[in-house]
Amino acid sequence: MPALERTLDPDVLLAWYDRHGRTLPWRLPRGEKPADGALSSSTPPRPEPYRVWLSEIMLQQTTVSTVIPYYERFLSLFPTLEALAQAPLETVLHNWAGMGYYSRARNLHACARALTEQGGFPADPDSLRKLPGIGPYTAHAISAIAFGLPVIPVDGNVERILARLAAVAQPLPGARPLLARLGEQLGERLASAPRARHRASDFAQALFDLGATICTPRAPSCLHCPWRESCRAQAGGLAESLPARQKKKPRPVRYGVAFRVRDAQGEVLLRRRPAQGLLGGMDELPGTPWHETPWEEAAAFHHAPLIQMPGTPEDPPAAGQPRPRQGQWVRAGEIKHVFTHFTLMLTVYDWQPQDALPSSWPEGLQFHPPARATLSGVLKKCLAVSVPTPAASPSSLTRPRKILQP
Ligand code: SF4
Repeated sequence: MPALERTLDPDVLLAWYDRHGRTLPWRLPRGEKPADGALSSSTPPRPEPYRVWLSEIMLQQTTVSTVIPYYERFLSLFPTLEALAQAPLETVLHNWAGMGYYSRARNLHACARALTEQGGFPADPDSLRKLPGIGPYTAHAISAIAFGLPVIPVDGNVERILARLAAVAQPLPGARPLLARLGEQLGERLASAPRARHRASDFAQALFDLGATICTPRAPSCLHCPWRESCRAQAGGLAESLPARQKKKPRPVRYGVAFRVRDAQGEVLLRRRPAQGLLGGMDELPGTPWHETPWEEAAAFHHAPLIQMPGTPEDPPAAGQPRPRQGQWVRAGEIKHVFTHFTLMLTVYDWQPQDALPSSWPEGLQFHPPARATLSGVLKKCLAVSVPTPAASPSSLTRPRKILQP
């Protein structure tokens, strides 16, 4: 079974981290003492659990540069765990909007409430894993960084480092259990190194920095790596080809049609998605369900708000109430949005009524200023589609159309 070299020394990585570690808003500035003055002088400073947890949840599937402004805004709006727990879920979702993977925001809120009820963060990974939204990686990250336990948080970056250090030939994702065992082996190595054990918080962060700046997915800088003498991939000239990956199946495509109604003030007719599931609790344009084949125009228009279908008896409209017919919608364009498990192609139709709008719409629909809506990435793209000039406007769903890239 692949294993780590005996010479692999945690102290060597820590010495490198002291010189080259990144400065990030959720870390303590170099040399800062812990806010908790009760800690003994022999306890190395560690960031607060709240900050570690918040940053780790945000960093799941999102890059550091995207997370930084969100993290800073969250800390100014919700400076403590209690402040986050007391905030309405809608406010949390609104401020999360744009970062995607909204179940993280719902779990963040549920977790804040659970933690305030139980009086704060537990230190051990097993207790942390019982909380909403905290999986094995996040539990180990909080235990190591905030509480200094000698455990290794194994995410994709750390998997890559481990696969290279031990020259693991088995491709991902099948190699994951083996890489988890190598993570445990590294944790044991850390626990048995007296000086490094004392700095388990720094060690976890040093691993992240090694993966982000030296042992990168492409073209790793092995020449500058503190562990190059103990790396089996480097010795075998395999660094760039590891970790191996199984060929992915092509991502399936789903299709939908969305109907955008804007009033004279620029407010948009929106509905709220169910709290659970994909984009749960976010606002969206009314439209069709998403399915595996493109929509026929006539079928799609059955899902338009207040549409009068040709050949169906018309309800007597209230005086002055506008009722868009099929021909009054302008096909604005199509957006593409990539989710983890499928790609969404959404055709956007637009209607800007010239007359006064009705005061009531079908249940669940309401006009909102876009700035006050809970905007998902999909909705942002739908709102950004501009209406083509009449001469350029195609009238059928089947014509060639411009695809807006994500
Ligand atoms: S020597 Fe190269 S492949 Fe090995 S851990 Fe360092 S950067 Fe990664």
